[in-house]
Amino acid sequence: MNKGKNIDLTLKELSRQKESPKSLYILFVLCYVVISVNVVKTARSSGTFMVAGQQIPVSYFAGVLTSLANIFIVSLVVFFRKIGFLTGIVIVVAQIPFWVMSIVVMHNFTAIPGVFTTVFALVTSFIIFINQLRVEKYQASMQIQVVTDNLTKLPNRFACTELINDLVQKNDRFAVVSVDINNFKSINDTMGHETGNEVLRRVSDRWKELADSWKTGTVDFVGRYGGDEYLIVIREFEKEEDILNTIKAYKSVLEEKMTIDDCDFFMTACFGYAIYPDDADNRASMLSYADVAMHEMKREHGDSILRFNKDMSHAEKTLELERKIREALDKDRILSYLQPQFDMSHKLRGYEALARIREDDGSFISPGEFIPVAESTGLIDLVDLRVFEKAAEFFGKAIKKTDAKISLSINISVRHLMKNNFIDEITGIMNKYGIPADQLELEITESIMIDSFEKALERINEVKQMGLKVAIDDFGTGYSSLSYLNSFPADLLKVDKSFIDVMNDSDSSRQYVATIITIGHILNLEVISEGVETEEQLKTLESIGCDHIQGFIWGKPLPPEEAEKLVTAS
Ligand code: C2E
Ligand code: CA
Ligand code: CA
Repeated sequence: MNKGKNIDLTLKELSRQKESPKSLYILFVLCYVVISVNVVKTARSSGTFMVAGQQIPVSYFAGVLTSLANIFIVSLVVFFRKIGFLTGIVIVVAQIPFWVMSIVVMHNFTAIPGVFTTVFALVTSFIIFINQLRVEKYQASMQIQVVTDNLTKLPNRFACTELINDLVQKNDRFAVVSVDINNFKSINDTMGHETGNEVLRRVSDRWKELADSWKTGTVDFVGRYGGDEYLIVIREFEKEEDILNTIKAYKSVLEEKMTIDDCDFFMTACFGYAIYPDDADNRASMLSYADVAMHEMKREHGDSILRFNKDMSHAEKTLELERKIREALDKDRILSYLQPQFDMSHKLRGYEALARIREDDGSFISPGEFIPVAESTGLIDLVDLRVFEKAAEFFGKAIKKTDAKISLSINISVRHLMKNNFIDEITGIMNKYGIPADQLELEITESIMIDSFEKALERINEVKQMGLKVAIDDFGTGYSSLSYLNSFPADLLKVDKSFIDVMNDSDSSRQYVATIITIGHILNLEVISEGVETEEQLKTLESIGCDHIQGFIWGKPLPPEEAEKLVTAS
């Protein structure tokens, strides 16, 4: 086995495979040699042939063949860079004695144009090569960025999926292990973001060291998949026991005591794995099955290792839902329902767009069911955009007709928000349907402040610069700290329904909601309460200074045709 830094070697191997095949190199050199030999023959030929009634000497075509041969020299550099360029030089230098013989000794001056063409081809190759070197240097640093996770320096999500794609293509046997650190959120909440990051860095260092030490007896690749989720790809095992032993090794280095700023941490994690090709035969399923097994372990509140099996009941359900989401996207069955929002005097403030899937039999699947599946399968951005597009179509028409200064709120998942072309996609739809930026609001759940605050903040600031509004959804459910809230440039705070439900049960519950509203106002945010169902709740909210409400009491989510009637009436 070629030993070295295991993870780096795998990454190198992956990028090497994207290079042109050796067979192409041999083909180019062969073509060059064969054609060059024929140049000499052609040049010396005294034969002729007829073209349009004229006798043309065969030797005229020596020049054409020389140019053709030179195309292969240039191609060598284009496809094989340094090696190609060196081969070109060797080929040309090897011809020098023949040129000298031909021109100086045998006085065959017809060879001179061919020599020039070849030298020009070499100069062209040199220019291309120098330019490639410059671009390559830049690309090399980019490449590292593309496959590396900034925080931990481990390979990132992209590198993990590339490797799995590659192994599936080669039909190699491997195992994918999905790992989720236990109680990471509470470390972030109680000890702060910096400590959380340090924990991730330490865990990553330990795992990288183990992978690079080759001590597990298998070839392991560890990457950070996002947040506190990691992925281990295990290769070169003989039996399942080898996989288990490898995972146990990662588990045990994780569980060694970790001291940060004089505090001791004892980390544990849930490990779920799937084996290719026994459990699944494609990348997407391998990833989702390992994930399903890991979540099953999580659900059992365990800290151990579990292999995927088809009986994991919810896994079937997830797969079925994934199929339904794909089908709904294909058949245009994702709908956007609109729930009105009002100020306390019952004046329409705007609408929140809520996703629905309509099934063949006319029944609906609720977003509570399918949104988490869309998130875990990477379909969420398509769903979010479809919902936005449908809502924008309705909203654009409605505001054009009435000139109402109402807003449209759309729910955006963190995964979607972080996508590179997020802004372009949103802008595309805004332009298409004429949605003014100041009438569009993005609802982002509070959990974003815990999971990926800094990166999210950059994106939110971009969105704000475009003039859009931002609402913090489900406020109160995610334990984010006041300092996060203070630096988050939101416009609106949405008090979660669970607090409104119990608000009138006790004085302290009422006081809790009142405090959220006060904090919101201190931070210059407007506050809207979600899930208001009764007159009693409405009265309480009025008395504690809530600005807006959204709830069944004044309006359920409606299909666009019905929602439109409300705008005209307002
Ligand atoms: P959410 O953003 O908190 O949306 C509010 C949910 O509360 C909606 O459920 C709404 O129908 C429900 N609701 C509003 N007022 C009342 C009330 O008075 N009583 C009761 N019982 N329920 C009320 P829905 O439509 O089932 O959506 C559930 C969640 O799914 C949403 O919670 C949101 O997190 C997610 N979601 C919905 N559409 C989308 C979408 O297009 N993209 C994304 N990423 N998530 C979405
Ligand atoms: Ca929402
Ligand atoms: Ca909410």
